[in-house]
Amino acid sequence: MDTDDFAGPDLVVAGAGGGLVAAVRAAELGLSVLVIDSNERFRRGNNTSMSTAMIPAMGTRYQREQGIDDSPENFLSDVDKKTGGDFNRVAATSLAEVSTELVEWLADHVGLEISLMTDFIYPGHSVARCHTIPGHSGAAMLSSLASAAEKHELIDILTPATLTEVQATDGQVSGVVISTPDGPEEIPARAVLLATNGYGADPRLVERYMPEIAGAIYYGSEHSRGDALRIGESLGAAVDFLDAYQGHAALAMPSAMLATWATIMHGGFMVGRDGTRYGNEASGYSEYAAVSMAHAAEGSWIIIDERIYDACSGFQDFKDVIDGGGVKWGDNASDLALTIGVDPAGLQQTLEDTRSYTSGASKDPTGRSVWGEPLTGRLAAIRVQPALFHTQGGLRVDEHARVVKESGDVVQGLYAAGGAAAGISGHGAAGYLAGNGLLTALGLSYIAATHAGAAQQG
Ligand SMILES: Cc1cc2nc3c(=O)[nH]c(=O)nc-3n(C[C@H](O)[C@H](O)[C@H](O)COP(=O)(O)OP(=O)(O)OC[C@H]3O[C@@H](n4cnc5c(N)ncnc54)[C@H](O)[C@@H]3O)c2cc1C
Repeated sequence: MDTDDFAGPDLVVAGAGGGLVAAVRAAELGLSVLVIDSNERFRRGNNTSMSTAMIPAMGTRYQREQGIDDSPENFLSDVDKKTGGDFNRVAATSLAEVSTELVEWLADHVGLEISLMTDFIYPGHSVARCHTIPGHSGAAMLSSLASAAEKHELIDILTPATLTEVQATDGQVSGVVISTPDGPEEIPARAVLLATNGYGADPRLVERYMPEIAGAIYYGSEHSRGDALRIGESLGAAVDFLDAYQGHAALAMPSAMLATWATIMHGGFMVGRDGTRYGNEASGYSEYAAVSMAHAAEGSWIIIDERIYDACSGFQDFKDVIDGGGVKWGDNASDLALTIGVDPAGLQQTLEDTRSYTSGASKDPTGRSVWGEPLTGRLAAIRVQPALFHTQGGLRVDEHARVVKESGDVVQGLYAAGGAAAGISGHGAAGYLAGNGLLTALGLSYIAATHAGAAQQG
């Protein structure tokens, strides 16, 4: 590229979700940035805004304050166990290593009020390492990122503007084509970050790559149409783990809000209409979505008591479930069963069984070992449906978040992050560890911006 003639931004960030981390970080490093998003209401519409703002990081000052000893190696070992060893080790290693810097940068440079989630440990994590913000609100997190981007003089944000093509000359990114209400536009650019999320909103791709969850409710951004896949593949990019996804077994009805999995990890359990449990809920909310698909037609219910209700009340999603009339109460098991239309004898027996597992008097035949306290007193039920939250497969990236071709070469200046990139959750739904979505979205964006900054500023 002739640098004298160059009139475009140093970095185009396509997607104002996790991609905003790249925008702010790159601008801090002196790059001019153009952020585009096809959704002008991205602040409330994308997956980052819908998330519960749980970001895993290992070895942070927040963990040290709580006396928690953690390291990138610990995390990689957890990922290894959760995925059965088949995952994107290159990206996972880079993410594990950058996670502390990322979370502390979010606090110190973006102004997020970060704290460590210590109430319980999400399935598969060996220690408390999910960092979050008050209310666990992804919308508040995204809003802070968007404000930081809007304030920076080196960043322009253009919406609605859809990335349709990335141009490359001699293996180096040279520009983008975008579609706006005024028509298509070509913009020269030195580097591009694809942060347009995955393909959860494309039912044909979901049916093709992850048929087990194809009939579930899709609960993510309507703009996750697989644009990065198409654009990357047109440039020869390799793709990996296209069958990987994050499901969630606990979309509360009728509000279609998230009944946090904290309900389960504090000791709640899930039953079908016959009042009995049908699996090990504590294996993980992602894989349990496919398990509960068999009960989707008649419904499933999470059963909790007042202790768990109080413990979950800090989650904004859970408050919304309460406000939406999603929590039904009963004085005891049979009273509750009659209220929600579940078999009373079945629910009573299940309650007694779970108390026995909790006290250690007997072993749960499904293999669940994490129980918390036994349920006592008044009981509550939340009717839930399984859902697909986002896809985890995508463009292959290297340790700098650069998009890699099948040959192993990179397209110079082309990066991918979040749902656009192949994630670190292996295949299917079972490899997903809580936080893997935001870690790849925010973390790969941070890594890409740091690399682009170094590459362009020498
Ligand atoms: C309810 C819910 C809760 C979740 N909770 C968590 C959590 O606590 N922790 C966690 O780690 N993960 C969580 N996840 C997953 C996490 O939200 C996602 O993995 C992550 O936010 C993806 O970020 P992203 O930047 O790739 O995509 P997004 O945040 O969706 O951003 C992509 C942006 O790209 C735009 N776009 C799409 N195509 C184009 C195009 N061609 N041109 C321009 N713009 C385009 C979209 O409009 C969108 O704004 C949750 C997901 C859901 C649905």
